[in-house]
Amino acid sequence: MNQPDVSLPTAPYLSEPGASEATSLYIDGQWRAARNGRVREVLNPADASVLTIVSEGGRPDTEAAIAAARRAFDTGEWRRTTADERGRVLERIADLLQRDREEISVMESLDTGKTIEEGGIDVDDVTNVFRYYAGLADKDAGRVVSAPEGVHSKVVYEPVGVCGMITPWNYPLLQLAWKMAPAIAAGNTMVIKPSEITPVTTCKLVELATEAGVPAGVVNLVLGSGPDAGAPLSEHRDVDLVSFTGGLVTGRRIMASAAETVKTVALELGGKNPNIIFPDVDLDTAVDYALSAAFFHSGQVCSAGARLIVHNDIHDAFTTELARRAEAIRIGRGQDEGVRCGPLVSAEHRAKVEAAVARGVEEGARIIAGGKRPDDPELSRGYFYRPTVFVDCDRSMDIVQTEVFGPVVTVERFETEAQAIELGNDTDYGLSGGVWTNDTGRGERVAAALRHGTVWVNDYGPYFPGAEWGGYGRSGIGRELGLAGLDEYREAKHIYRNLAPEPQRWFG
Ligand code: NAD
Repeated sequence: MNQPDVSLPTAPYLSEPGASEATSLYIDGQWRAARNGRVREVLNPADASVLTIVSEGGRPDTEAAIAAARRAFDTGEWRRTTADERGRVLERIADLLQRDREEISVMESLDTGKTIEEGGIDVDDVTNVFRYYAGLADKDAGRVVSAPEGVHSKVVYEPVGVCGMITPWNYPLLQLAWKMAPAIAAGNTMVIKPSEITPVTTCKLVELATEAGVPAGVVNLVLGSGPDAGAPLSEHRDVDLVSFTGGLVTGRRIMASAAETVKTVALELGGKNPNIIFPDVDLDTAVDYALSAAFFHSGQVCSAGARLIVHNDIHDAFTTELARRAEAIRIGRGQDEGVRCGPLVSAEHRAKVEAAVARGVEEGARIIAGGKRPDDPELSRGYFYRPTVFVDCDRSMDIVQTEVFGPVVTVERFETEAQAIELGNDTDYGLSGGVWTNDTGRGERVAAALRHGTVWVNDYGPYFPGAEWGGYGRSGIGRELGLAGLDEYREAKHIYRNLAPEPQRWFG
């Protein structure tokens, strides 16, 4: 049963449905309309209604934003801020996020379809990321390097410059924070381009950064499609770094176009993440975590445990229980009490998930839960899809190898530890994986052998701001979070000083 409507909080950059104007681009310290005056309808994925109207920027807007970021970096006051001042700005952003926690949770829920509770978890996680980099900002000013007498040698860290940041629709606030917080800590300027279908909390975070004292031109925001508003960030010679989170195909395109100007590229791409279950675990607990790993945020999570690899001895009991509980998951609007799975983000995305499921059936995989849209007429206008479990899967299948990015989990069988490791590594990706066993040695061995950027032992999903996140293989390049996450936004410079220069006469 639906509860009363929760409406989108109002903000100057969000226009009412039906409006023909919007000022949602933030360039050089001003909220602006797109140069060509275009707008875009942002839809609520739970019922396809228009949630808000925002500006639809294009190449000229992005070029203006790059110019503003360049000016702010090359000649603005930002260059003269100290690292501890930038740390205080980050601390203020964290405080403001907590002040507006409820409002932001509702925005993220309505825009992406996730539950308000999940939106709140995102705000708390993001707050911690800002606090972590606030603390780190002034902790490492460089080092003196061992040098012969008469020479002083030091390595200092400097900001990379103008950073382009392109983010996806599944975690709009969180993915931006992972880039923005270390970039500010290191003293960069930036142009942000969120996914065109979920721009709301990105606007909000930019607003909070301004309130926290980030000077004009340091944080710029363009909205619009990838090819129009996003592409200049990888192409333009005045952008020094492009950091992208999104799909493999787009990532490849961005890397290729960034090669032209040899800019630094950071990529956080997809995953098809193994979750390996040995037979010595408590079945109830392992099934419980397997459900969360696969179906949290309706499986639209880059690190989703979408590929279960279950020991033969427990396979049947495990999958029977998994299917039973998957069928019982409450689907609905993310704003309604008790809902656990919201809609998929768009009609196009649901169509892709449905096509992947149909392919899986053609390949011979068997559905034991879900595999279709919910019957509930109240959900018929939204982009809902039921949590789906496939058994009789093997590694050659497309449904096992290709990221679906929806509420779909496949189950393969294994017999030996070596087989489990081989299957877990049999992927083009390498973002994350889980292993469940009560044998400590086995847990350590498997964790060491998996070629993935994060491995959870007897858990699935948590991350810490202080621990690096990123992918092996085609899951990406570089790391976000942790110390390496700050290094992405710094150049190391060696300064060598001769304290008593005398002629060397090398050339007589
Ligand atoms: P996507 O690649 O379609 O789009 C991501 C962003 O790129 C959007 O802002 C889009 O507008 C922009 N874009 C598209 N074409 C572009 C171009 N030519 N130039 C510049 N920008 C362009 O991805 P998506 O569908 O929004 O997100 C889902 C994908 O993101 C999944 O594959 C998921 O695994 C991945 N993801 C990875 C992580 C991670 O941490 N590794 C986190 C979240 C999501």
